[in-house]
Amino acid sequence: MSADYKTGDRVQFKKTHPCGGDIWKIIRVGMDFKAKCDTCGRIIMLPRKKFEKSVKKKLD
Ligand SMILES: [Zn+2]
Repeated sequence: MSADYKTGDRVQFKKTHPCGGDIWKIIRVGMDFKAKCDTCGRIIMLPRKKFEKSVKKKLD
C-alpha cells in the first residue's frame, strides 16, 4: 500500500459508508484530506493521519 496520495486517486475504506459504498475519490490532499463517496456523493474531510488509517487499499 502506498502512502502517497494525490487528488483524483480512488481508495477503498475499511469501514463501509452508511450508503453502502466503500470507495472514495480524493478531492483534496494536505494536512486535511477531502474525499467524495463514489456511491452517494457525500464529501468528508479528515486529518491526514486519520485518512491513512481509514484506507484499506488504494485503487489503480
Ligand atoms: Zn456514501
